[in-house]
Amino acid sequence: MENRSHIVSCECSHLSCDWQVKAIRDVRGKGFVITEFSPKHNCPRLDHAFHPASKWISAMFLHRWKEQPSISITEVRNEIESMYGIKCPEWKVFCAANRAKQILGLDYDDGYAMLHQFKEEIERIDKDNIVLLETESHESREEERFKRVFVCCERTSYAFKVHCRGILAVDGWEINNSCNSVMLVATGLDGNNGILPVAFCEV
Ligand SMILES: [Zn+2]
Repeated sequence: MENRSHIVSCECSHLSCDWQVKAIRDVRGKGFVITEFSPKHNCPRLDHAFHPASKWISAMFLHRWKEQPSISITEVRNEIESMYGIKCPEWKVFCAANRAKQILGLDYDDGYAMLHQFKEEIERIDKDNIVLLETESHESREEERFKRVFVCCERTSYAFKVHCRGILAVDGWEINNSCNSVMLVATGLDGNNGILPVAFCEV
């Protein structure tokens, strides 16, 4: 019924039903406080089948990915079925898994695994873009491990060189991931004082 920055309210869509909820913004915080609530439906409710969204799955089963990051899609799917009696399509649980891993900061491995693809894409967009990717082999593991990556886009570095003031700002910070890698960036300022990224690398 209402959806404004300081007040929200909902009613049951059935005209003869009294179910409603109203909430106003808490003056101190970012939350809302329920001010009115009539929890009882007196309408003949339609028996809609429940189809959970991937967002709902990732929120309700977030603890499972936290406990067991390598948990399989089938396993989560079975748990949803045994708890709620719903058979979820695999793709939905897959989306939920990606979302949960992102929330928990567990998606770094997937990201590193896609770096070669990232390099190809950047170079395909413009063959003068530079992506230098270095990996190293590790005794105990078969696959290569990420060492460092350098990215410089031709268009922005050209714009910096030809059109911008010759001041390059460099900065770096530690990324909060399991590898404790460091992100380094070099940026210029354009004529509108907008930040123009010239190059970045992760080491
Ligand atoms: Zn109702």
